[in-house]
Amino acid sequence: MTSSVEQLRNAYAIRGHSRASRTDIVNFRDRQLRRMVQHAYRNVPYYRALYDEHGVHPDAIRGAEDMPMLPAVTKTHFRGVPERERVASGLDPETLIPAASSGSSGRPFTIRRSWMEHNVLYLPRIRALRSYGVKRTDRSFNILNPKNVHARDNKMLGRSLVALGLLTKQKRMSIHLDAASIALEVRAYRPNMLSGYPNMLARVSEELAREPMAPPSIRVALTGAESLTPDLRRKIEARLGVPVRDQYGSNECNLMAWECSRGGSLHTSDDTVLVEVIAPDGTPVSPGHRGEVVITSLHSFAMPLIRFRLGDLAMQGAGLCGCGAPFGTIRSVQGRMLDMFPLPDGRVIHPYYLSESLIMDDPDWIENFQLTQERLGHITMRIIARAEPTSQRIERLRALGAELLGACVEFELMIVDSIPSETSGKYRPARSFVTSSYDDVTIQSVPSASTISSSETFFAAESQ
Ligand SMILES: [Zn+2]
Repeated sequence: MTSSVEQLRNAYAIRGHSRASRTDIVNFRDRQLRRMVQHAYRNVPYYRALYDEHGVHPDAIRGAEDMPMLPAVTKTHFRGVPERERVASGLDPETLIPAASSGSSGRPFTIRRSWMEHNVLYLPRIRALRSYGVKRTDRSFNILNPKNVHARDNKMLGRSLVALGLLTKQKRMSIHLDAASIALEVRAYRPNMLSGYPNMLARVSEELAREPMAPPSIRVALTGAESLTPDLRRKIEARLGVPVRDQYGSNECNLMAWECSRGGSLHTSDDTVLVEVIAPDGTPVSPGHRGEVVITSLHSFAMPLIRFRLGDLAMQGAGLCGCGAPFGTIRSVQGRMLDMFPLPDGRVIHPYYLSESLIMDDPDWIENFQLTQERLGHITMRIIARAEPTSQRIERLRALGAELLGACVEFELMIVDSIPSETSGKYRPARSFVTSSYDDVTIQSVPSASTISSSETFFAAESQ
């Protein structure tokens, strides 16, 4: 394990890296990688077994270019192993800070970090805000998923950071509220920076554009957590009259890349995470080519994440950004594509409204799921079960779904063996065929009976 002194030294170094040379950052990154791989092999049973099985010794890893020697791990593989074997020996998982892995695409599992590790991962967020000219005295307004705000994350920490002048004053609102109510709060709060899910920001900005805002006005809009399409960007920029800057983060590693302040490429946070864009054989793709994103957290020693497949696609960018920043780049990240669902009664709901109530309530038997809206008044949930669900469980889920959606929507539940991905290879956990922000960025492939195994059990809701 790294000592607290080392961690503080690292945190201090990261704070200064915006002005460091590329060589300094590469050296820092490679040193952390070597430490992490050695540590994982010596202290984490899961990695020791994995690397022994693949016949690779940590001494072979000197830096980022050696990482393809190590096997990439999937969420399914990772969570199939008991937690104690994934946590560094000698640590009690219960004493660590828990964070759910991204729950939008299947059963979540818990990532655990020490207090210090957890907080180091906030530094790239502060760095990104500074690059956009967001000052300590500015006010930010964040529209987010309340489930992503973890119990110990982080009212206390947030207050301390604001008090220390490291973080801006912020107000948070839930994506489960409607756009008009959120816009009212934004007007009252008068933030300098607005951030949220692209689909939601497009709706809120539409409300805000109806009449001028009282100064001080918003200077920049930040998007994250789902894919920002050129169309959504254009809408938000036109309605707010400010630039949109995209951020690429995950629950596993907090902020991993942030858009250049000049727009275009995303700077990768090379001193906190190694972001690899790889081909199916595990080797890096060349700049301009698309591949799968695999991450290695450089500071999470309590529960190491080494070459962890997030399920996102991205394009490899230039080795350095044209703006002169000392970070690598990636482009056009295709992260989560979550459509919002307009309902016949006028509500427009975020899919998390359904998935979190339905999945988080009783997650153990669900391996993966997909929500699709075929018509305004018809939503289907497909579930791949880990274990044969009891009829009680299914009935409860069906009733809960029907209750959340109301009498105007027919809710259909299907237990299936597989859920088809898009032709692009990207799985879309929430898809509306009524209105979608993402259909023009991926090749359309409508789930049809032929793509789902005939052995599926079928549970239709009775019509309301
Ligand atoms: Zn740049």
